Amino acid sequence: MTQAKVCFIGAGNMTRSIISGLVKHGYPSALIHATNPSQGKLDALKQDFAIEVSHDNAAAAQAADVIVLSVKPQLMEAVCDALSHLDLANKLIITIAAGIPAARYSQYLKQPIKLIRTMPNTPTQIGYGMTGIYAGDDISAEQKAICETLMQSGGKVVWVDSEDGLNQVIALSGSSPAYFFLFIESMIASGVNMGMAEDKARLLAEQAALGAAQMVIQNQQLSVAQLRQNVMSKGGTTARAVETFQQGDLGGLVDKAMRNCVDRAEEMA
Ligand code: NAP
Repeated sequence: MTQAKVCFIGAGNMTRSIISGLVKHGYPSALIHATNPSQGKLDALKQDFAIEVSHDNAAAAQAADVIVLSVKPQLMEAVCDALSHLDLANKLIITIAAGIPAARYSQYLKQPIKLIRTMPNTPTQIGYGMTGIYAGDDISAEQKAICETLMQSGGKVVWVDSEDGLNQVIALSGSSPAYFFLFIESMIASGVNMGMAEDKARLLAEQAALGAAQMVIQNQQLSVAQLRQNVMSKGGTTARAVETFQQGDLGGLVDKAMRNCVDRAEEMA
């Protein structure tokens, strides 16, 4: 059943990204349903991907094999409560919400359920996403395969062995696009401060970021430190810049930021 009937509860940015990837990869539109309170997002999804849409969460969930919970975490309890009268025994539930522990969903839905927790990131919108996935021992290989099919539509997936691992996924990939944006922003600002036109500074910084990421991906036999050293010659320009970052303890700052990110995820649980 790797092509199950899937219903997305909540048709916001993440749902749109996942559905876009699914349809692009040939998942049948007729097997995809999305629900949302406001009509505009539903109209756009129907027009762009020819999927089924509606306002009725319970009816859509009832008809589906897989229910993807894709509303904001603060709405999750109310949304689940309104589904709790359904018999969910034969359904797979996938959540993409940040922060809510797996065990809490069976309380919200008032019955034992089969649930997989996932943590995608925003590059899923363009097919370069990364999703961390956690499933308990009660989830079958077939259910895991269904979840992988859905989440791989927007990029790559990695399984983690514990829910704590999902908090590390948040630090490494859920939140980290913003770290890279901050670095690129800072490079552009510095280029502009030095007199470069902003559009040229942006082009130079973005292409460097893309090229660096591709070099890491395409040179798996080399450590990232080796790739960095390959750009640096003793006493050269790159060495001067990298030494400046090291004197400011960039590594320590990144470690502190990522630990703070994990702490925040734990606080939110
Ligand atoms: P979003 O764009 O705000 O989408 C949430 C959608 O839920 C909205 O379209 C909203 O509709 C809809 N909604 C509200 N109440 C509903 C209800 N009772 N029934 C059905 N739908 C309802 O948010 P998002 O960025 O896609 O995030 C969705 C989930 O993904 C969140 O739990 C978030 O934690 C998780 N997530 C997001 C990211 C990210 O980077 N964006 C990464 C990882 C995980 P209206 O707009 O009409 O109110």
